[in-house]
Amino acid sequence: MDTLWRVIERNARNFPNQTALRYPPQNLTLTWQSLHSQALGLASTIQSLEIGIERIALLSPNKPEFVLGFLAAMVLDKAIVPINIRLSVREISNILTDGVISVLLYEESMALMAQELEQLGFTIINITTESAAGEDISSPHCDGTKAAEILYTSGTTGKPKGVMLSHQAILAAAKIMAYEAEIYAADNCLILMPLTHSAPLNLFLWGAFWAGASVTLGDFTPQTLLDYAAQEKTTHFFGAPVVYQLVSMIPNLGDWDLSIMKVWVYGGASVGAEAIVHWQTVLPGKWMGVYGLTEAGPNGTALRPQEHGGKTGSIGRRGTANTEIRVVRADNTDTDPDEAGEIILRSESLMAGYLNNPAATREALHSGWLYTGDIARRDKDGYIWILDRKKDMIITGGVNVYPKEIEDILSTHPAILELAVIGIPHKDWGESILAKLVLNPGETITLTDLKNYCRDKLADYKIPHCLSIVDSLPRNASGKILKHVLRAEYNP
Ligand code: ATP
Repeated sequence: MDTLWRVIERNARNFPNQTALRYPPQNLTLTWQSLHSQALGLASTIQSLEIGIERIALLSPNKPEFVLGFLAAMVLDKAIVPINIRLSVREISNILTDGVISVLLYEESMALMAQELEQLGFTIINITTESAAGEDISSPHCDGTKAAEILYTSGTTGKPKGVMLSHQAILAAAKIMAYEAEIYAADNCLILMPLTHSAPLNLFLWGAFWAGASVTLGDFTPQTLLDYAAQEKTTHFFGAPVVYQLVSMIPNLGDWDLSIMKVWVYGGASVGAEAIVHWQTVLPGKWMGVYGLTEAGPNGTALRPQEHGGKTGSIGRRGTANTEIRVVRADNTDTDPDEAGEIILRSESLMAGYLNNPAATREALHSGWLYTGDIARRDKDGYIWILDRKKDMIITGGVNVYPKEIEDILSTHPAILELAVIGIPHKDWGESILAKLVLNPGETITLTDLKNYCRDKLADYKIPHCLSIVDSLPRNASGKILKHVLRAEYNP
């Protein structure tokens, strides 16, 4: 069975001198051969420490060091645990303890944090791109069904859980992405979303590597996206909706030559059709939507370029290649058109389970199907429309209300920059509907304005009962709004 390290070995043999990785801030280029030998070099450094370990944590921003650290763990047949660099020392230490991890690889800019973790008893190893080219250390036999990655979910709905993904699952997700987005060896994928998240890491980094395409790494700003995409001749870019929202506000987008871009891929969070249509007018090219979750590799569905138009805003009709999707009732039967139910998925890319959490694993996986916790409906043509996450649904006066439906309407209001709708406790109705708004500069809005705006667009029981205007909304590193943080204010 194939493994992740074998993909690198194969590329180093097939196209040794072609670019594997680019890092524009330092104008750094690694060929497949240099990536291969530097990963071996780092692996031999780790091996020389002779620490008996099963897993290795990785603390690095989106830099070549992240990739080298990841690959060194693959050489040594250890599972890698990428850590979100925005977490505090206490949060990281909790993850390391949860995962029974004693060794942490870190990139130089994370040295202070790494040293604090060292004082707590963890072994730390610095990753450099100058480490001696690898002597030929022999890579142990690796079983592709074994966990290669443990990804801690970003916790938009609660405490992070360690999702265990095998080589086989990651490669399945990577191949599906390469197939769906038509990534070939001559292509370049630009990755500016944090590699600690499953979509940039497994779909795009591994999708590109599997296809033999090059990857350009960096951190997202609208400027870096436009500059790097033009200069690196990028063919594929993936961004969460908030990324496209920010880029589409840049004037003179025509100043950047992005004509080589084959596909703009969006996904990871809900977005209304109007926003997508707007992005399509300002950033020409093909557009593809993806839906998935870390627990699925994060594979799931795709709304292919030719399906945009009448179905923009839907997550697609079928699973991606080799993936099955159903929308089911609580008794596991398929829903009728327009009836709400839970999305369940079956694919080679599914997780093996949550690390050290059999109860949560049993809740998520049944008979080979992943229960996603996402509520959706199919339309009469079979297209699936996400209503909301089960945990975000509001029950007010005994009636189910999906905040996303209200958010989609309010997001078209000219005074509103961004927003989140949540349920807050109410003594008579169970929950009432609160809209948290960030306004465009100089704008004001009252509850009456808001209600009037919704009046002919939403049923009366869905109209927000109260509003709160704030300067910003809490988001995780991949740009998702942390609704549990907002709700916590009202549920002390
Ligand atoms: P946690 O699972 O701990 O709450 P998280 O939400 O960040 O963390 P991810 O696996 O990154 O975990 O997110 C998966 C979820 O994101 C899906 O279950 C779904 O709710 C949402 N999502 C992903 N893609 C889309 C999409 N295209 N449209 C709407 N929602 C999406």
